[in-house]
Amino acid sequence: MTTVENVIIVGSGPAGYTAAIYLAGAGLSPIVLTSSVEAGGALVNTTEVENFPGFPEGIMGPHLMENMRKQAERFGARLVYDDATALDLAGNVTTIATGSGTVYRAQAVVLARGSAYRKLGIVGEQRFTGREVSWCATCDGLFRCQTQRSCRAGTARFSKQQATKR
Ligand SMILES: Cc1cc2nc3c(=O)[nH]c(=O)nc-3n(C[C@H](O)[C@H](O)[C@H](O)COP(=O)(O)OP(=O)(O)OC[C@H]3O[C@@H](n4cnc5c(N)ncnc54)[C@H](O)[C@@H]3O)c2cc1C
Repeated sequence: MTTVENVIIVGSGPAGYTAAIYLAGAGLSPIVLTSSVEAGGALVNTTEVENFPGFPEGIMGPHLMENMRKQAERFGARLVYDDATALDLAGNVTTIATGSGTVYRAQAVVLARGSAYRKLGIVGEQRFTGREVSWCATCDGLFRCQTQRSCRAGTARFSKQQATKR
């Protein structure tokens, strides 16, 4: 019978590492299933992040996520570069199967798997991603809204505010 862990965190973006820092700080020694190929989450694939407090000149996304990983590990989180492939939530103990074949059991699971942007499928969308095309009002609406004209898709109120602010 495998050990029952206190808590397993699925995902290693900002949400996963933040959970890891607090849970490790509380002495729960969490395991973080980081993903086998996408550890660090979405910010690993971007360049400058300008809106995180504490970095007045901005910080490169991979560097920011490296810092979060180190901080989580310093608090005692245990990182495993693997993918959760199945969860069994029945009963008091959750069972988590992984891509490598390891099966974990835990009293609690934090799902911090991120989300996906819903693309429009229009001409130029892929090509201009990261430049004129953005899915993140928080990231780009506040800091990069230098164009006079913009087109906003979606219904989120915050996105509307940021996209039309200037
Ligand atoms: C190009 C780009 C630029 C951005 N720039 C900014 C910015 O400047 N400022 C800002 O505030 N935000 C920015 N964002 C948004 C920011 O990246 C997200 O808000 C943030 O990463 C969300 O964090 P998260 O932890 O919820 O999810 P994610 O960062 O998406 O992390 C989720 C993690 O979970 C992993 N995962 C999923 N399923 C499993 C599984 N079954 N097993 C194991 N692991 C799993 C994924 O592989 C991933 O590593 C940007 C996003 C993009 C795409």
